[in-house]
Amino acid sequence: MVERKRWSKQSRTILDIIYNNEEGLTASEIYDIARETHPNISLGTVYRNLRDLQDVGLIRETTSGGVSVYFKHPFHSAYLECDVCHSVIPVDFMLNIGDIIRSTGHDVKRWDLKLIGTCKECLQKCT
Ligand SMILES: [Zn+2]
Repeated sequence: MVERKRWSKQSRTILDIIYNNEEGLTASEIYDIARETHPNISLGTVYRNLRDLQDVGLIRETTSGGVSVYFKHPFHSAYLECDVCHSVIPVDFMLNIGDIIRSTGHDVKRWDLKLIGTCKECLQKCT
């Protein structure tokens, strides 16, 4: 059971900051930008929101020179799953879930797209 996270103005601001930057940002860079609109935000709040945003899969963290850098999650793949042989094939998928969440305000907890059916090989065996 995933704990329901309440979206705050601050978490949305942090998400916007990350999604408006193609280059990854460190927590302190995010903190500096967030303070322009939320002067009272603390670095601890930034870290907590970064963790939450990672938990729901909206952002991605990589380490560069010992420093954590945060990026928007690419969301560029979905999976085709065969219900006969259970093969899983990744496919390109250009829906940007992060942008959809931001534009609709929907509080997405998880995302998953599996297109379940029968693969070409299994279909040929059936005929
Ligand atoms: Zn198959």
